[in-house]
Amino acid sequence: MKINYDLKMEEILKEVTQSEKKKRLLIHSCCGPCSSSVLEYLKDYFKIDIYYYNPNITFDYEYYARKQEQKDMLKKLNYDMNVIEGIYNPKEDFFEKIKGLENEKEGGKRCYSCYDIRIRETAKKAKEEGYDFFSTVLSISPMKNVNYINEIGEKYSKEYDIPFLFADFKKKNRYLRSVQISKELNMYRQEYCGCVFSKVEKEQRDREKAEKEKQEGKIKND
Ligand code: SF4
Repeated sequence: MKINYDLKMEEILKEVTQSEKKKRLLIHSCCGPCSSSVLEYLKDYFKIDIYYYNPNITFDYEYYARKQEQKDMLKKLNYDMNVIEGIYNPKEDFFEKIKGLENEKEGGKRCYSCYDIRIRETAKKAKEEGYDFFSTVLSISPMKNVNYINEIGEKYSKEYDIPFLFADFKKKNRYLRSVQISKELNMYRQEYCGCVFSKVEKEQRDREKAEKEKQEGKIKND
Protein backbone atom coordinates (compact mmCIF):
# COMPACT_ATOMS: atom_id res chain seq x y z
CA MET A 1 0.00 0.00 0.00
CA LYS A 2 1.31 3.42 -0.98
CA ILE A 3 1.67 5.68 2.03
CA ASN A 4 0.91 9.38 1.68
CA TYR A 5 3.74 10.87 3.75
CA ASP A 6 2.58 14.40 3.12
CA LEU A 7 -0.70 13.56 4.79
CA LYS A 8 1.16 11.91 7.67
CA MET A 9 3.12 15.11 8.16
CA GLU A 10 -0.04 17.22 8.13
CA GLU A 11 -1.48 15.04 10.91
CA ILE A 12 1.64 15.57 13.01
CA LEU A 13 1.56 19.31 12.35
CA LYS A 14 -2.05 19.46 13.47
CA GLU A 15 -1.03 17.77 16.71
CA VAL A 16 1.96 20.00 17.42
CA THR A 17 -0.13 23.16 17.04
CA GLN A 18 -2.13 21.98 20.08
CA SER A 19 0.85 22.26 22.38
CA GLU A 20 1.38 25.55 24.24
CA LYS A 21 5.08 25.74 23.57
CA LYS A 22 6.64 25.18 20.15
CA LYS A 23 8.20 21.72 19.88
CA ARG A 24 11.92 21.53 19.09
CA LEU A 25 12.86 19.90 15.79
CA LEU A 26 16.34 18.85 14.69
CA ILE A 27 16.27 18.54 10.93
CA HIS A 28 19.04 17.07 8.85
CA SER A 29 19.93 19.21 5.85
CA CYS A 30 22.22 18.50 2.90
CA CYS A 31 22.39 22.10 1.65
CA GLY A 32 20.77 25.54 1.68
CA PRO A 33 18.69 25.23 -1.51
CA CYS A 34 17.09 21.90 -0.48
CA SER A 35 16.25 23.17 2.98
CA SER A 36 14.90 26.57 1.90
CA SER A 37 11.23 25.85 1.29
CA VAL A 38 11.15 23.16 3.99
CA LEU A 39 12.24 25.64 6.63
CA GLU A 40 9.90 28.28 5.27
CA TYR A 41 7.05 25.80 5.67
CA LEU A 42 7.95 24.35 9.07
CA LYS A 43 9.15 27.42 10.91
CA ASP A 44 5.67 28.34 12.13
CA TYR A 45 5.22 24.92 13.70
CA PHE A 46 8.57 24.18 15.33
CA LYS A 47 11.59 25.73 16.97
CA ILE A 48 14.09 24.41 14.44
CA ASP A 49 17.81 23.68 14.40
CA ILE A 50 19.66 22.24 11.44
CA TYR A 51 21.95 19.26 11.52
CA TYR A 52 24.52 19.51 8.78
CA TYR A 53 25.85 15.96 8.70
CA ASN A 54 26.96 14.94 5.22
CA PRO A 55 29.99 12.62 5.04
CA ASN A 56 28.63 11.51 1.63
CA ILE A 57 29.98 14.70 0.02
CA THR A 58 33.26 13.43 -1.37
CA PHE A 59 35.10 16.66 -2.09
CA ASP A 60 35.83 18.89 0.87
CA TYR A 61 35.60 22.16 -1.14
CA GLU A 62 32.06 21.12 -2.09
CA TYR A 63 31.21 20.17 1.49
CA TYR A 64 32.34 23.54 2.85
CA ALA A 65 30.67 25.52 0.04
CA ARG A 66 27.33 23.86 0.82
CA LYS A 67 27.77 24.42 4.54
CA GLN A 68 28.50 28.09 4.00
CA GLU A 69 25.50 28.48 1.72
CA GLN A 70 23.33 26.89 4.39
CA LYS A 71 24.46 29.49 6.93
CA ASP A 72 24.24 32.40 4.50
CA MET A 73 20.70 31.46 3.60
CA LEU A 74 19.56 31.58 7.24
CA LYS A 75 21.18 34.97 7.61
CA LYS A 76 19.58 36.36 4.46
CA LEU A 77 16.15 35.13 5.55
CA ASN A 78 16.71 36.23 9.12
CA TYR A 79 15.81 32.79 10.47
CA ASP A 80 16.66 32.21 14.11
CA MET A 81 18.04 28.68 13.66
CA ASN A 82 21.36 27.14 14.60
CA VAL A 83 23.43 25.04 12.24
CA ILE A 84 24.96 22.14 14.16
CA GLU A 85 27.73 20.47 12.22
CA GLY A 86 28.38 16.75 12.45
CA ILE A 87 31.72 15.04 11.95
CA TYR A 88 32.98 15.15 8.37
CA ASN A 89 34.82 11.92 7.69
CA PRO A 90 33.92 10.60 4.21
CA LYS A 91 36.38 7.72 4.35
CA GLU A 92 35.04 6.04 7.51
CA ASP A 93 31.49 7.32 7.59
CA PHE A 94 30.62 6.95 3.92
CA PHE A 95 33.02 4.95 1.75
CA GLU A 96 33.53 2.18 4.35
CA LYS A 97 29.79 1.86 4.85
CA ILE A 98 28.76 1.72 1.20
CA LYS A 99 31.48 -0.78 0.20
CA GLY A 100 30.23 -3.05 -2.59
CA LEU A 101 27.52 -0.56 -3.63
CA GLU A 102 29.77 1.85 -5.53
CA ASN A 103 28.36 0.90 -8.93
CA GLU A 104 24.71 1.20 -7.97
CA LYS A 105 22.68 3.80 -9.87
CA GLU A 106 21.57 6.98 -8.11
CA GLY A 107 18.37 6.23 -6.21
CA GLY A 108 19.32 2.57 -5.56
CA LYS A 109 20.87 0.60 -2.69
CA ARG A 110 23.86 2.91 -2.23
CA CYS A 111 21.49 5.80 -1.66
CA TYR A 112 19.49 3.74 0.85
CA SER A 113 22.67 3.31 2.89
CA CYS A 114 23.55 6.97 2.44
CA TYR A 115 20.16 8.12 3.78
CA ASP A 116 20.48 5.59 6.59
CA ILE A 117 23.89 6.91 7.67
CA ARG A 118 22.64 10.50 7.85
CA ILE A 119 19.18 9.89 9.32
CA ARG A 120 20.56 7.61 12.00
CA GLU A 121 23.06 10.19 13.15
CA THR A 122 20.33 12.85 13.21
CA ALA A 123 18.10 10.67 15.40
CA LYS A 124 21.00 10.01 17.76
CA LYS A 125 21.93 13.67 18.00
CA ALA A 126 18.32 14.77 18.46
CA LYS A 127 17.86 12.27 21.30
CA GLU A 128 21.10 13.27 23.02
CA GLU A 129 20.26 16.97 22.83
CA GLY A 130 16.67 16.60 24.02
CA TYR A 131 14.77 17.58 20.86
CA ASP A 132 11.10 16.62 20.55
CA PHE A 133 11.33 15.53 16.88
CA PHE A 134 13.88 14.75 14.22
CA SER A 135 13.62 14.71 10.43
CA THR A 136 15.48 15.33 7.18
CA VAL A 137 14.91 17.63 4.21
CA LEU A 138 15.95 14.89 1.74
CA SER A 139 12.43 14.23 0.45
CA ILE A 140 12.35 17.70 -1.15
CA SER A 141 14.30 16.24 -4.06
CA PRO A 142 12.35 14.47 -6.84
CA MET A 143 15.49 12.31 -7.29
CA LYS A 144 15.25 10.83 -3.79
CA ASN A 145 13.25 7.79 -2.76
CA VAL A 146 10.61 9.05 -0.35
CA ASN A 147 9.68 5.56 0.90
CA TYR A 148 13.27 4.73 1.82
CA ILE A 149 13.61 8.04 3.69
CA ASN A 150 10.48 7.59 5.75
CA GLU A 151 11.07 3.88 6.43
CA ILE A 152 14.52 4.71 7.76
CA GLY A 153 13.11 7.59 9.82
CA GLU A 154 10.57 5.26 11.37
CA LYS A 155 13.24 2.64 12.13
CA TYR A 156 15.43 5.11 14.03
CA SER A 157 12.46 6.73 15.71
CA LYS A 158 11.87 3.35 17.36
CA GLU A 159 15.53 2.64 18.05
CA TYR A 160 16.25 6.02 19.66
CA ASP A 161 12.78 6.55 21.07
CA ILE A 162 12.14 9.97 19.54
CA PRO A 163 9.35 10.96 17.12
CA PHE A 164 10.21 11.30 13.43
CA LEU A 165 8.50 13.96 11.36
CA PHE A 166 7.35 11.94 8.35
CA ALA A 167 7.33 14.01 5.18
CA ASP A 168 7.23 14.21 1.44
CA PHE A 169 8.49 17.75 1.23
CA LYS A 170 8.43 18.05 -2.55
CA LYS A 171 4.61 17.94 -2.48
CA LYS A 172 2.47 21.09 -2.70
CA ASN A 173 4.99 22.76 -5.01
CA ARG A 174 7.62 22.95 -2.29
CA TYR A 175 10.30 21.67 -4.65
CA LEU A 176 9.52 24.45 -7.14
CA ARG A 177 9.41 26.91 -4.28
CA SER A 178 12.92 25.81 -3.22
CA VAL A 179 14.18 26.53 -6.75
CA GLN A 180 12.48 29.91 -6.67
CA ILE A 181 13.98 30.87 -3.27
CA SER A 182 17.44 29.76 -4.45
CA LYS A 183 17.14 32.03 -7.46
CA GLU A 184 15.80 34.96 -5.46
CA LEU A 185 18.68 34.69 -3.00
CA ASN A 186 21.20 33.99 -5.73
CA MET A 187 22.29 30.85 -3.90
CA TYR A 188 24.94 28.38 -4.92
CA ARG A 189 23.07 25.33 -6.26
CA GLN A 190 25.20 22.25 -6.84
CA GLU A 191 24.76 20.17 -9.98
CA TYR A 192 25.12 16.70 -8.49
CA CYS A 193 23.93 14.92 -5.38
CA GLY A 194 27.11 14.70 -3.33
CA CYS A 195 29.26 11.58 -3.70
CA VAL A 196 31.85 11.13 -6.43
CA PHE A 197 29.63 8.47 -8.04
CA SER A 198 26.78 10.93 -8.48
CA LYS A 199 29.20 13.45 -9.98
CA VAL A 200 30.43 10.92 -12.54
CA GLU A 201 26.83 9.92 -13.32
CA LYS A 202 25.83 13.55 -13.85
CA GLU A 203 28.79 14.17 -16.15
CA GLN A 204 27.87 11.09 -18.15
CA ARG A 205 24.25 12.29 -18.48
CA ASP A 206 25.51 15.69 -19.67
CA ARG A 207 27.76 14.08 -22.29
CA GLU A 208 24.92 11.91 -23.57
CA LYS A 209 22.60 14.93 -23.76
CA ALA A 210 25.18 16.99 -25.64
CA GLU A 211 25.79 14.10 -28.05
CA LYS A 212 22.04 13.69 -28.65
CA GLU A 213 21.64 17.42 -29.33
CA LYS A 214 24.57 17.30 -31.71
CA GLN A 215 23.04 14.37 -33.61
CA GLU A 216 19.62 16.06 -33.77
CA GLY A 217 21.23 19.30 -35.05
CA LYS A 218 23.05 17.31 -37.71
CA ILE A 219 19.85 15.61 -38.90
CA LYS A 220 18.05 18.98 -39.07
CA ASN A 221 20.84 20.57 -41.10
CA ASP A 222 21.22 17.66 -43.56
S1 SF4 B 1 23.88 9.74 -5.03
FE1 SF4 B 1 23.47 11.12 -3.30
S2 SF4 B 1 22.13 9.97 -1.92
FE2 SF4 B 1 23.08 8.52 -3.36
S3 SF4 B 1 24.92 7.77 -2.29
FE3 SF4 B 1 25.56 9.51 -3.54
S4 SF4 B 1 25.41 11.27 -2.21
FE4 SF4 B 1 24.25 9.65 -1.25
